[in-house]
Amino acid sequence: MKFCNQCGHAVSQVIPEGDTRLRYVCGACSQVHYQNPNIVAGTVPVWGEQVLLCRRAIEPRSGFWTLPAGFMENGETMEQAAARETEEEACARLGNLKLYTLFDLPHINQVHVFFMGQLADIDFAAGAESLETRLFHESEIPWSELAFRTVARTLECFFSDRREGIFPVRNEALPPLRMQPPKGLST
Ligand SMILES: [Zn+2]
Repeated sequence: MKFCNQCGHAVSQVIPEGDTRLRYVCGACSQVHYQNPNIVAGTVPVWGEQVLLCRRAIEPRSGFWTLPAGFMENGETMEQAAARETEEEACARLGNLKLYTLFDLPHINQVHVFFMGQLADIDFAAGAESLETRLFHESEIPWSELAFRTVARTLECFFSDRREGIFPVRNEALPPLRMQPPKGLST
């Protein structure tokens, strides 16, 4: 951040009185600009034995496969955000949404949350941000072409939990990737 969004003056990093962290503070109007984590909400759309994935049409990770997911908007619940992203990216509607995975990604200031739900029908299609959408059996999942680690981890959990027949809510913190992984293993 360089400029105050209240008055346009330059901001600088200081620790405000009574605070413990560096904040961007406006040199003119003294506005403190707090920065907080962003929440990504998504779904695991289930149809019988299969799961619906979308191939991304936009960066980052254009061309890679993902579960429907995106940034939560103001004024909506996390479940509404997950359902909206599923409608936008896969033109799909889900019933019986249930909280499933929650990942803390402190190194990029994000929290990713996935709900599991049953597809209402198979009348899905690629939305504006997707190249294609299709159902995958476990044996067909393109593990080396998944867009994000949290998507890969959620699918791993899903197929593992399905063998046990129970789907406990899972909360994991994912550490930063220390080095560039070999090609094809970037998730
Ligand atoms: Zn200002």
